[in-house]
Amino acid sequence: MDEAQLVREAIAVAQRAYAPYSRYLVGAALLAKDGRLFVGCNVENASYGLTVCAERNAIFHAVAEGCRQFDRLAVVTSDGGSPCGACRQVLHELGPMDVVIAKLDGTISLRTSTDELLPNAFTFETGRRPGEDSDGSESRRP
Ligand SMILES: [Zn+2]
Repeated sequence: MDEAQLVREAIAVAQRAYAPYSRYLVGAALLAKDGRLFVGCNVENASYGLTVCAERNAIFHAVAEGCRQFDRLAVVTSDGGSPCGACRQVLHELGPMDVVIAKLDGTISLRTSTDELLPNAFTFETGRRPGEDSDGSESRRP
């Protein structure tokens, strides 16, 4: 799936966002290395702190389906806004991956990566067994 198609998938899911408070529709389309597609939209709540972003909805869904390796994420908003800090942390944990940010009309506003979005990210290496990657496989790192 090419970038333009991934952005179109994100635009489509943004239309299903539940955003009665902010009216800020966000869609995320996540392309896994195995070719599967996972989408997410923002879901707000009257108790604002319970709101979940589109990016995290997409990636949590992927993990629940047993997928932890990704090629690219497309995020779309009305103004081409960038992922929030919480999403950057979550995306970094399951990266690296390319990230394309676009407006709801499909205009690309930024091409970046999870590493660029969150330099010097917080990690918790002791949360993994020695030699294990985040996907549970043996580490390929030296
Ligand atoms: Zn977010």
